[in-house]
Amino acid sequence: MTHVHDTPERALLRDQVARFIEHDVEPHGDGWERAGSVPRGMLKRMAELGWLGLMIPERYGGADVDPLTNFAFAEALSHSTYGGFVVTVLVHTDMASPHLVNAGTDAQKARWLPGVASGDTLTAVAVTEAAAGSDVAGLRTRARREGDAYVLDGSKLFITNGVNADLYFVAARTAPLDAGSRGVSVFIVEKGTPGFRVGQVLDKAGWRSSDTAELVLDNCWIPKSHLLGVENQGFRALMQNFQRERLALAAMAIGNATRALEAALAHVRERRAFGGVLWDREAVRQKLASLDARRQAVRAFAWHCAWLVAAGRDCVREMSQLKALSGELANDVAYGCQQCFGGMGYIRDTSIERLWRDARILSIGGGATEVMLEEAAKRL
Ligand SMILES: Cc1cc2nc3c(=O)[nH]c(=O)nc-3n(C[C@H](O)[C@H](O)[C@H](O)COP(=O)(O)OP(=O)(O)OC[C@H]3O[C@@H](n4cnc5c(N)ncnc54)[C@H](O)[C@@H]3O)c2cc1C
Repeated sequence: MTHVHDTPERALLRDQVARFIEHDVEPHGDGWERAGSVPRGMLKRMAELGWLGLMIPERYGGADVDPLTNFAFAEALSHSTYGGFVVTVLVHTDMASPHLVNAGTDAQKARWLPGVASGDTLTAVAVTEAAAGSDVAGLRTRARREGDAYVLDGSKLFITNGVNADLYFVAARTAPLDAGSRGVSVFIVEKGTPGFRVGQVLDKAGWRSSDTAELVLDNCWIPKSHLLGVENQGFRALMQNFQRERLALAAMAIGNATRALEAALAHVRERRAFGGVLWDREAVRQKLASLDARRQAVRAFAWHCAWLVAAGRDCVREMSQLKALSGELANDVAYGCQQCFGGMGYIRDTSIERLWRDARILSIGGGATEVMLEEAAKRL
């Protein structure tokens, strides 16, 4: 659907992605949900289309597009009814690899970014720990300096692409716990580094085609050249990219809501009861009209936030509000639309049942609603 920030290029990209989802994603998603991950071949195909390096500089194999075009891609991709597929891609493109683009040295970028853009190097970002989720500053994984190396010890939980990634951006403490957010640094850890392993693979309610894992760092030695950015200033770097991460999650929430509404509208126009179709019931159609009004409002706000990012404005307040609003929207819309399906909406692997399950995490992950509202409140 067109909007104020549409350009012919963005419309073309949206149409291309829509065709790709229809022909290459939706027919295969059930198999990926059963397998618990998206096949690498699929990601490589997306890379060939230029979609895994949209905001990576051209000299490293990317397309170097502007943030609004990048958001157009995230929004279009989020129209898949398989949230697990969408998050696999968007964690790589918008939540993990941007850390390397933003903070990497030329040498680090030259070494890893071409693989990120080509789909050979899948990325993950590992911040959360069992005892530190919303409260990022409380993380306890340690990195101690030993000559020309850092030694990492600790563990991470709930890491998307945790099983299949090749490159991990790991937040660890480089100063005592009482230094709080001023003692956090980010490190690049390659799969296969001695002392680093994938722990438990986590079985989830939704996003089933996304692999999620615990990561274990046990006397894991990495060269000091794998420090990303400045020692003890990793927290600020993480926070900066949280804006883009939240935008991507908002795109997912809006996409989920859009598909749920489409499915419900088609259903209530056909489903017969009490001598007519469900659409004839005022309560049903007004509920859908109201949910769609909220969806459109959140979508317009999301594009406004994307524009704030593109303009380089400080938008932590708006972005936190967007994350809170969109996460709640996805849940309310999925719940309301599922209700329209009656018993069939509760049957496993109908798209509405999956959208409902996939919506749940959107008000928890990447900043729970309450935490986002706290961030916004501080800035009111
Ligand atoms: C499927 C999945 C994928 C994920 N992927 C990643 C990833 O790739 N990388 C990564 O680092 N992390 C990832 N996470 C972690 C995710 O971001 C955290 O789960 C989330 O930030 C919440 O942290 P927590 O689970 O520790 O909950 P807690 O911090 O224990 O919070 C629990 C609940 O308490 C409430 N709450 C918390 N703080 C406040 C407050 N200040 N005021 C009021 N209420 C509050 C909220 O309702 C919150 O949901 C993922 C999680 C899941 C489930």
